[in-house]
Amino acid sequence: MDVKKFITLRNGVEMQGIGFGTWKSADGQAAYDSVIEAIKAGYRHIDTATLYKNEASVGKAVNECGLKREEIFVTSKVWNRSRGYDKTMAAFEKTLSVMGLDYLDLYLIHWPAIPAQFEDWNDINLSTWKALTELYKAGKIKAIGTANFFPQHLESLMQTEVQPMINQIEYHPGYTQDEVVKYCQANGIVVQGWSPLGNGAVLNDAFLGEMAAKYGKSVAQICLRFAVQNGIVPLPKSVTPSRIASNLDIYDFEISEADMKAIAAMPETGFSGWNPNEVDF
Ligand code: NDP
Repeated sequence: MDVKKFITLRNGVEMQGIGFGTWKSADGQAAYDSVIEAIKAGYRHIDTATLYKNEASVGKAVNECGLKREEIFVTSKVWNRSRGYDKTMAAFEKTLSVMGLDYLDLYLIHWPAIPAQFEDWNDINLSTWKALTELYKAGKIKAIGTANFFPQHLESLMQTEVQPMINQIEYHPGYTQDEVVKYCQANGIVVQGWSPLGNGAVLNDAFLGEMAAKYGKSVAQICLRFAVQNGIVPLPKSVTPSRIASNLDIYDFEISEADMKAIAAMPETGFSGWNPNEVDF
């Protein structure tokens, strides 16, 4: 199976087919060092968010790593309290300034406004999207998208001038959101997988342990390879140098079709508990 290390988004922008996560990486030395280490190991795609409160350290590492800015694909996300056109515009400018960057490669709406919280949830999402669209057209963001959107939330964005290029969702063995993936893949939206290791919760699963032994790889590598073979861009996070490197070492083996199916059929394992239509944040 030909797994591409770089993939092309619908607007022609190239993105590494695996990205480096930074949620819970403490601002300051820990986040900074992890990003430097990741870039040294070969990651060229870094994922942060305003919510993670480490944009400053991530941006500093991107600026100081020794590579040219255009060699690294940098993502951030607008947090829920900044939804709507004006607040999103302001949040984006703040992110750029905190990160010390003059553009982002990808900016995502972190969570959809939802019917359980807002009567006008769809208008709110469209208004946030309008801000992203303008920033994209002005060249301040190379690609725009969403996170945690279900097809129901994506549908109206798909009718606008610029359609989402990415949807970032929870994705790991034991929680694969097949309906969302199917919709995105049918509509040219690349799916990024957050918590590709279930935030650590799937790493002790006995069945995945057997798979790892069978292929002579770690459980983490099985999870990440499972994602990329399904066309998903996983975003593993680690602050541990050996793990940062080994999580990238997934291109020298292939999971058989039968084992892909068996992993996909695992019972629910490691779900975060955050159903985007039910969250209260
Ligand atoms: P992951 O599924 O990547 O798991 C990270 C955890 O696993 C950490 O505790 C890490 O420990 C450990 N770990 C990493 N690699 C290995 C390994 N090879 N062996 C053993 N343990 C390992 O979790 P995240 O939840 O962080 O998700 C990844 C990224 O996705 C986030 O960092 C963030 O960028 C993004 N995300 C986006 C969300 C959204 O709403 N859009 C929500 C959640 C995450 P240690 O660091 O100590 O090495």
